[in-house]
Amino acid sequence: MITIAVDFDGTIVTHEYPKIGQEIPFAIATLKRLQSENECKLILWSVRSGKLLDEAVEYCRIKGLEFYAVNKDFPEEVYDKASNRKVNADIYIDDRNVGGLPDWGVIYAMIKGKTRPIYDTQYIKPKPKNIIIRFGEWLAKR
Ligand SMILES: [Mg+2]
Repeated sequence: MITIAVDFDGTIVTHEYPKIGQEIPFAIATLKRLQSENECKLILWSVRSGKLLDEAVEYCRIKGLEFYAVNKDFPEEVYDKASNRKVNADIYIDDRNVGGLPDWGVIYAMIKGKTRPIYDTQYIKPKPKNIIIRFGEWLAKR
């Protein structure tokens, strides 16, 4: 079970804070799909608070997206802004990511392990040497 913290403004909807922007294509569908397939916990992770936060939660609920927790590690946690500045998650999805927010289709593939960020060098396999180079190395060893 992985925990995913997801931002709202600029990530699920276009950034029109304090208004609610337009849904970013496939954001909610992707999150709902990840929830159902991966058994992941989704935490809404937003600078919104009070009424503005409630509006964001309600916007998602109407579209069928329910969060495990909102600006908290778990639902029963007592929120204390002074100490709970960052929620505890395995993955954060935020439009303020370095490199920006990928398309939601790309986010889905990254989380499912179908692609990795290009800076993950361990994932980049060296190209196999061609037959002529291998033959040359074989000759050199003899
Ligand atoms: Mg944002």
